[in-house]
Amino acid sequence: MHTHPIRALVFDIDGTLALMDKETHSYTALPGAREALALCRERGLPAVAYTNGTFFPPAHYYPLLADAGLVLEPGHILTPAAVAARALKDMGYQRVMVMGAEGTQAPMREVGIEVIAPSKDAPKVDAVLLGWTRDFDAEQLETVVQAVWDGARPFAGSVAPFFAGAGGKKLLGISGAVAAALTNATGVEVTVFGKPETKGLAQVAQITGVRPEEMMIVGDDPKLEIRMGRKAGAFCVGVTTGVVDAKGFASFPEDQRAQLVLPSLRAFSDLACFAD
Ligand SMILES: [Mg+2]
Repeated sequence: MHTHPIRALVFDIDGTLALMDKETHSYTALPGAREALALCRERGLPAVAYTNGTFFPPAHYYPLLADAGLVLEPGHILTPAAVAARALKDMGYQRVMVMGAEGTQAPMREVGIEVIAPSKDAPKVDAVLLGWTRDFDAEQLETVVQAVWDGARPFAGSVAPFFAGAGGKKLLGISGAVAAALTNATGVEVTVFGKPETKGLAQVAQITGVRPEEMMIVGDDPKLEIRMGRKAGAFCVGVTTGVVDAKGFASFPEDQRAQLVLPSLRAFSDLACFAD
């Protein structure tokens, strides 16, 4: 039983708030998503959208979601790369070797961390960060491994083995594959920032001033946002508009599963915590 009042909401994006058309790269809001965000605004409850993708920096998502009628306040869209950037900054890192595309590099620069490319003549670094990229070769992999052999700490946005692509195809989670290679070579475990780790919720707490116990986490993936939310003591709501159905949500042990499952966000405004 969750007894805390709800004072902030964290929504997953893909499969929860919206679906992306991979051809046109435009989002369509899922049923009830616009109304759910409007209700949060009306009640003065901060709403954060937290995706697990590191393809794009947060800035990329605001206009895409706004075009679908999903308006988020500035600073209220998070990606694992943005979470990593703030966390690495707080940990005191000033210069980090990044093996990842612009979606991983941009948030690092935004917080004032110098991004070092993994090339042979790269200067010594204290940390390396892995993010999504298709643009790497053996020399870059060797450089990152050498940096860790030389004492740099390895971090990653996400180590998901795969993610959902168009037409139900599985797409390789490249940073997860590189993280496994790095650990294989160095014996050093890679520290992960994205879901289901709870570091993102700690940052939502910083942004909103609300403790995780007073947050509602809404997501379509029991292994990502629901696992994250339950670990942090938040109230977790599953929606069946994404990767699993109600049976899928129910297949997890009771202390790890969503406390509530909705067929879509259409039912969101009926939740008891929004009753007048
Ligand atoms: Mg999702």
